[in-house]
Amino acid sequence: MNGQMMQMPLLISSLIVHAERHHGEQEIVSRRVEGDLHRTTYRELAARSRRLANALAALGVQAGERVATLAWNGYRHMELYFGVSGSGAVLHTLNPRLHPEQLVYIANHAEDAVLFFDLTFLPLVAAVAGHAKSVRHWVAMTDRAHLPADAAKIPNLLVYEEIVEAASERYVWPSFDENTACGLCYTSGTTGNPKGVLYSHRSNVLHAYAAALPDALDCSARDVILPVVPMFHVNAWGLPYVAAMTGSKLVFPGPALDGKSLHDLFESEKVTVSAGVPTVWQGLLAYVEANKLGFTTMRRTVIGGSACPPAMARVFGEKYDVHVLHAWGMTETSPLGTTCAFKSQHASLDKEGRYALMTKQGRAIYGVDMKVVDADGHELPFGSEQSGELLVRGPWVLQRYFKEEAANPLVTDAAGHQWFPTGDVATIDADGYMHITDRSKDVIKSGGEWIGSIDLENIAMAHPAVAMAACIAAAHPKWDERPLLVVVKKPGAEVTREELLAFYEGKVAKFWLPDDVVFVDAIPLGATGKMQKNKLREQFRDYKLPTA
Ligand code: ADP
Repeated sequence: MNGQMMQMPLLISSLIVHAERHHGEQEIVSRRVEGDLHRTTYRELAARSRRLANALAALGVQAGERVATLAWNGYRHMELYFGVSGSGAVLHTLNPRLHPEQLVYIANHAEDAVLFFDLTFLPLVAAVAGHAKSVRHWVAMTDRAHLPADAAKIPNLLVYEEIVEAASERYVWPSFDENTACGLCYTSGTTGNPKGVLYSHRSNVLHAYAAALPDALDCSARDVILPVVPMFHVNAWGLPYVAAMTGSKLVFPGPALDGKSLHDLFESEKVTVSAGVPTVWQGLLAYVEANKLGFTTMRRTVIGGSACPPAMARVFGEKYDVHVLHAWGMTETSPLGTTCAFKSQHASLDKEGRYALMTKQGRAIYGVDMKVVDADGHELPFGSEQSGELLVRGPWVLQRYFKEEAANPLVTDAAGHQWFPTGDVATIDADGYMHITDRSKDVIKSGGEWIGSIDLENIAMAHPAVAMAACIAAAHPKWDERPLLVVVKKPGAEVTREELLAFYEGKVAKFWLPDDVVFVDAIPLGATGKMQKNKLREQFRDYKLPTA
């Protein structure tokens, strides 16, 4: 027997319709590429999203076609989130930090029909325009007055404000199956070609519901959210959708991601919640510390994308009274999978106990199930000390990659359930808190035993002279691999190899101690701000560890 409730598909457009009707006056503030601070409301943004939907129709964009963006976090990008997906087309967010060749590959693979770009990326667009064969129109996200003269070299160039203004505000969002594709994001593909993850209206709306929960991102109509995490990377962890759902004020930093610009915006707009990867917070904390500033309104920041160094959570918590929520996710999981929110039994933990728990990536949010399996695919029980590969499943977890219909990335267990193998190596404790020790490709295997490079990096990061640390496997004649610590010192700070090695004493098992330390000026970062350990391994491939 069917239930007898209304059949209403979960569509992206319903989020902006809700925000317009029930939070119409709520503000959206954006630092723009044009250099100013722009203010709008959900009401205006909804109207302009409808104009945009009409404009796309006028450009001949069909349902299911991909419309790409190369853009910072800002209100125009948010209009595209709703205008493109709401009209039934697919929003394809491109990562502007990728190499032009990779962008060309991705745009061609996705067969993008129109590409919208912020002026910052004009040189990038000029480099790819001749090679991205499917793109019929290039749209500069600005007005005519701000269009630089050299934009003329882009073929079929349109100006965003002109096409939006020329279109009617009257548009009825179409209704269709909630499983229709709404967005596309490629994984950075450290090995092989990038792969496309095709989100559906249903998966993104369900993800937004879950992401808004108190033990997840905890967003409400009283919050002011500043997503530092880019809208070109897994939908800024879903925050634009969450904010429309909850009626939160949004503050977009645009291209200005340096410590001062961010801090100014946090203070002037009274930001309460933020989210980003550890490398961004490093810049912000360095600025705040150097200028003896603080945070007046910010109460929480979500840190994920790579492991949050415990030293960072401690500085935020103890010095600035900002609670860090450690979170884990992937492009393939929309991205939110786990958050490290405490349970009531943790109220009795002392400070050290709380910070120790925060090192973990946390427990599954409803909608995501997870388990850790051994090399034979058998589940390791919660509480097992042994680590294994993390598998996940749920309605916002990838089924298969875009245009790879023949390949099945999932594994099936004895119960017939399908799971997505994350490539992360983890443990799950008795309370259900997952802890990542490594990505499987970064694991250091010494004499057959795994050494957790993330733990070793976290310890180094707690040293006051260390700005960034990566621990990689270096070849060893006896043990196959041994840990080599690669360190970037803080400007003006001094520390020796011996001091750093001594810093590990008593903190890890003896056989985990790095065999050597090398100091470098910089560690290569990927397009999403993560350390590229594969590049470091390449760089130190012939490194001779001391054998004594
Ligand atoms: P890519 O895989 O292209 O680098 P993703 O953003 O999809 O981009 O990366 C997902 C991966 O990032 C995860 O599989 C995991 O290895 C890592 N990651 C994400 N969050 C965390 C975290 N809190 N701690 C440790 N690693 C994390």
